[in-house]
Amino acid sequence: MTYSDDKTPASARDGYAHIACLGEVMIELSPLTQDTVRVGVAGDTFNTAVYLRRALDSAGAKVSYVTALGDEAMSERILESLAEEGLSTGLIERRAGMSPGLYMITLDSQGERSFSYWRSAAAARTVFQRPAQVPMEAMGDVDLLYLSGISIAILPQDTRDALCDWIDGFRANGGKLAFDSNYRPRLWPDAETARRDTMKMWSRCDIALPSLDDEMDLFGDVDETAVMDRLARAGVHYGALKRGPSGPRALDGSGAALSVAPVTGVVDTTAAGDSFNAGFLAAHAAGGTIAECMEAGHALSARVICHRGAIIPRPSGG
Ligand code: ADP
Repeated sequence: MTYSDDKTPASARDGYAHIACLGEVMIELSPLTQDTVRVGVAGDTFNTAVYLRRALDSAGAKVSYVTALGDEAMSERILESLAEEGLSTGLIERRAGMSPGLYMITLDSQGERSFSYWRSAAAARTVFQRPAQVPMEAMGDVDLLYLSGISIAILPQDTRDALCDWIDGFRANGGKLAFDSNYRPRLWPDAETARRDTMKMWSRCDIALPSLDDEMDLFGDVDETAVMDRLARAGVHYGALKRGPSGPRALDGSGAALSVAPVTGVVDTTAAGDSFNAGFLAAHAAGGTIAECMEAGHALSARVICHRGAIIPRPSGG
């Protein structure tokens, strides 16, 4: 099979000067012992932003994280983490009296992880709501916007609709949209709304980064072919379908599958998809072919799943 590289979105060839990742970043509590926890910072689009910044060379694009935070210590902690990773924080709204979302990981006696969330009152849900220091228009100089189904699920319907309209103008002016559906049923009012608003993003995105499981869960597609056909009908013409250990397939009309060697030493698949997206987008920003983008995404996610937790710690002093 061949890859149709002529479908590479044009502006990637000239490089992106400013990439923005929009969504919710949370405080993560993970167990150390029965009575003590480690405090971390995590979230799907945050994970992608961190790995994207690391994967781009230092002369590469500015990478901003776009969200709303509160004005207390945990929001400061998140800002520090973003800054430590070289992410720009100029597009972060600060809300007086609010806090970020929180989740806690617990382990059962077999070592299986489960998650408890406190995020329904998170500041991130108010992003772009008036009055705003950071309205959508503040993203005017962004060349590539990345967001996920979680980024939109947490928004009230009117903000979600306004974002959709803004994206139409953004794309008409040459901006590119990258999207991963990351379906989390509990964040949506109902499955029908999730399907409708997720399809709005698929029909608007320039770089589609779905994973097979999420798409089948949300849309009830019977198999991979049904997923790919539905996305093609929605207008998806570039990106990759993530299929766990089977490796990705090109969403450029060719359906070409990247052949991947089995990864040994897998310990935790948290952030597999998020890091794949980062590797894919970094290679794309460098002008890579779709095969190179999928290879870069897979190579990065293959490293990430051999570490415990979403983010591989940076080498000390690095
Ligand atoms: P998500 O985390 O969004 O569900 P996937 O599980 O499909 O996404 O994983 C994303 C990518 O990570 C895959 O396309 C593949 O490249 C890689 N990957 C994930 N799990 C494995 C695995 N067990 N072995 C090898 N590669 C994997």
